[in-house]
Amino acid sequence: MSEPGPWTRRRMVTAALAAGSVNVMPLARLAAQTGSVDDRVEFRRLVAANRILANEGVVDAFGHASVRDPRDPARYVMSRSRSPELVEFDDLMLFETDGTPADGDTRRPYGERMIHGAIYEVREDVNAVVHNHAYDLLPFAITGVPLVPVVHTASVIGPEIPVWDIGERFGATDMLVRSMEQGRDLAATLGANTCLLMRGHGAVVTGATIREAVVASVYLQINADVQLRALSIGEPRGLSAEEIELSRATQFSPLGIDRAWEYFCARAGVDPE
Ligand SMILES: [Zn+2]
Repeated sequence: MSEPGPWTRRRMVTAALAAGSVNVMPLARLAAQTGSVDDRVEFRRLVAANRILANEGVVDAFGHASVRDPRDPARYVMSRSRSPELVEFDDLMLFETDGTPADGDTRRPYGERMIHGAIYEVREDVNAVVHNHAYDLLPFAITGVPLVPVVHTASVIGPEIPVWDIGERFGATDMLVRSMEQGRDLAATLGANTCLLMRGHGAVVTGATIREAVVASVYLQINADVQLRALSIGEPRGLSAEEIELSRATQFSPLGIDRAWEYFCARAGVDPE
């Protein structure tokens, strides 16, 4: 009998997740504590988010996504150190805000998890964070040319996208955010914005939910591509502040977000939830 292909394997995994038959260490204990299947929806969506971000080319071998623990705002959940394309439910780990693995979990965590904790620490409105190195974004992180919303679907990225330069305060480094001090410096530059670019490195995208963070991450990349191409033939005209606000409300309404989530889940071969 032949091995199931990747598509079939994904369907099998997501079916098992939906049925709750895939159960593992720290999160299994957490689920037992609360006794509520609904508590795990955001965690299952986090697994879907990893697959979607990989499928849409937002992340490759590197990059990661997290969600704030809905039962304890001082904690967050993300995969062990693994490429997003490969993340499954039993890869998820629980972390304290300072990046310490909870429950004595000894698996290898992402080196740059401090980005996530430092943002959750100061942004009560943020419940999901994506960090990526999408190549279309990088020209805007190294030239001083601002990345601004130029298409309506990308209004969700917000009107202003600051650029953080790790070298300004920390000198020459390997460019990775490895400490809470670095993460907090990044979070201060992010301020109240949705997205931030990192000089010579990548981007951070936040959301009130993981669905919002994923949709904003995908359209940040699309916007950068359109803006780059527009710059090659003329001077792009961005959306006005009012257009951004009105369009963002539509994109994040059930009309927009449900449709986008179902579409991106289908493309990635995961069940929408
Ligand atoms: Zn990185």
